[in-house]
Amino acid sequence: MQFDNLFDKQLRELSEEQAWVLQVLGQHRSALLSTLEGTLERARSGFVASSLESLLRLGLVECRDEVWRLTWTGTGVANWREQKVWLKLLPAGMRLTEPRDGENGSEIGPSCDLYRQTLFAHGRCWCGRSRREHLASPEAAQSDVANGIGDRAVGEGGV
Ligand SMILES: [Zn+2]
Repeated sequence: MQFDNLFDKQLRELSEEQAWVLQVLGQHRSALLSTLEGTLERARSGFVASSLESLLRLGLVECRDEVWRLTWTGTGVANWREQKVWLKLLPAGMRLTEPRDGENGSEIGPSCDLYRQTLFAHGRCWCGRSRREHLASPEAAQSDVANGIGDRAVGEGGV
């Protein structure tokens, strides 16, 4: 099949290894070199399939039509793992912010009164909102919660 988009043209110019690294980086969104090297090393040793099976039993991933994705909890674990990667890079005296109940760092969580910057999603709080949204009126925060729930329902039903 012939494609006409720019991305396909660029992809065809990449080696298998370059494309694989690109994809793994995309899945991490951002990562240290050591993280990517670790991911690729384990993938070569067949670590991925057995890991996915065990993650499935833990409820951290789900699989539908052979497509794997993170569950709500799995997303929280993955976000937290990324947050912790930054631990050794923090200035002295600075602490990692942590999620509260009902927050996974990616989806809109319960209403929030304290901006807690995440290090895996620039400008976002663990509750899934931007700093600006924390300054909004309580009414606006409420409607954000309602919108978040609506989006989640659509996401779960679709694809
Ligand atoms: Zn918040």
